[in-house]
Amino acid sequence: MSNIEEQTRQMQYIDLVKEVVERENERLKRRLKCAVVTFGCQMNARDSEKLTGVLREAGYEIIDEETEADFVIYNTCTVRDNANQKVYGHLGLLKSRVKKNPNLRIALCGCMMQEASVIETIREKYKFVNLVFGTHNIFKFPELLYRMLTSDSQIIDIWEDTDQIVEDLPVDRKYSFKSGINIMFGCNNFCSYCIVPYVRGRERSREPKEIIREIEKLVNEGVIEVMLLGQNVNSYGKNLDNPMSFAELLKEIEKIDGLKRIRFMTSHPKDLSDDLIEVMAKSEKICKHIHLPLQSGSDRVLKEMNRRYTKEQYLSLVEKIKKAIPDVAVTTDIIVGFPGETAADVDDTIDVIRKVHYDNAFTFIYSKRTGTPAAARPDQCDEAEVKANFDRVLNAVKEEAMIRNGYLVGRVEEALVEEINAHDDTFVTGRLSNNSMVHFKGDASLIGKLVKVNILEAKGFYYMGEMI
Ligand code: SF4
Repeated sequence: MSNIEEQTRQMQYIDLVKEVVERENERLKRRLKCAVVTFGCQMNARDSEKLTGVLREAGYEIIDEETEADFVIYNTCTVRDNANQKVYGHLGLLKSRVKKNPNLRIALCGCMMQEASVIETIREKYKFVNLVFGTHNIFKFPELLYRMLTSDSQIIDIWEDTDQIVEDLPVDRKYSFKSGINIMFGCNNFCSYCIVPYVRGRERSREPKEIIREIEKLVNEGVIEVMLLGQNVNSYGKNLDNPMSFAELLKEIEKIDGLKRIRFMTSHPKDLSDDLIEVMAKSEKICKHIHLPLQSGSDRVLKEMNRRYTKEQYLSLVEKIKKAIPDVAVTTDIIVGFPGETAADVDDTIDVIRKVHYDNAFTFIYSKRTGTPAAARPDQCDEAEVKANFDRVLNAVKEEAMIRNGYLVGRVEEALVEEINAHDDTFVTGRLSNNSMVHFKGDASLIGKLVKVNILEAKGFYYMGEMI
């Protein structure tokens, strides 16, 4: 079945769900409520917007509090074990609610569902879960939802892979002025610690014309900033019938009238091309921020992680980027405690932190993911040593960010106002091109607008300013 035919089929299922929901609303004399709970990365956040879009279109009232919902969906992550444990924790709490309210429906989806051991556990211990689906068939959500609403048995539908990309179903965007766009799915890199290639499948890129069409539609609806999403955007387009590089795609997106800002995530250092650096340097719309996961600064560990770059190659890449794009913010991900990692390896990581002067870094303790090569290694690290190394890395990250983050003070920068400040409603919070947040006096009328801000003070990872 073609992607268009599949899309039409799913739209028909949304109509069928609508009829069921209307009947229930009439019976209960109120609207059915639904909560979508999201774990994990921006790809999952985007998937949740798609789930919410379908549910709203089908007549559900969307709420945040899962305890008040008639239908709860957990969109799960499995990158670290504690993400899995959190989901089981939520399910444990729901168990008693299911006994009191037989009408409560529960669905699970996302990366964690692609693991066979998880499905076994759900079948055995969580029989009250009504629907389970995975990452490859999320586009079938309307159909699965209809089956769930018209059946009493547990529905489990997990696919091993897919070549289908169905993207035109309703989407409920969290922000009216910015949006994520999937440009590709899956990953071919098989970093030895990472479960993503197993749960998200091999790389599949969307056709450029479909991406452009989606962005143009969003811009017509008022979006001015897009975030292009993929596990490894730098290898975008390699598997298309007419291959196109990520740099070429960016040039096409830049031409879209009305679009003001372009962001992307995530870049693998081994695939980041000179062409991309050049396009970024010349662009008026691509934001001055690059997230470049380091993971480790030790050549031995990098090799064992299957990252396919060395410390020196990484450092010279950053140097090239900083030279070509003045003021660019560089952020990263670091893993501490990879099997066999020593204090000397961590010294190498800290050396990179000191040399790059990251604007920010997300530091994680290695989490053993069953099925990956690293999990099978006998030399898993001692917990206390990992904790000590983790603290050393974190301190270096904080110190460098403090030094680095003063550089915008005294300058006038453009900020996209995202929301009213959470602590003081006379302030608003905006995002700078380099991805830092700035807080300044303002009101709700500014939300979604690009404004000029005088940067007054650096406060670690954020700034205080005044609008001019
Ligand atoms: S590039 Fe490596 S870390 Fe990133 S998703 Fe692919 S396998 Fe995982």
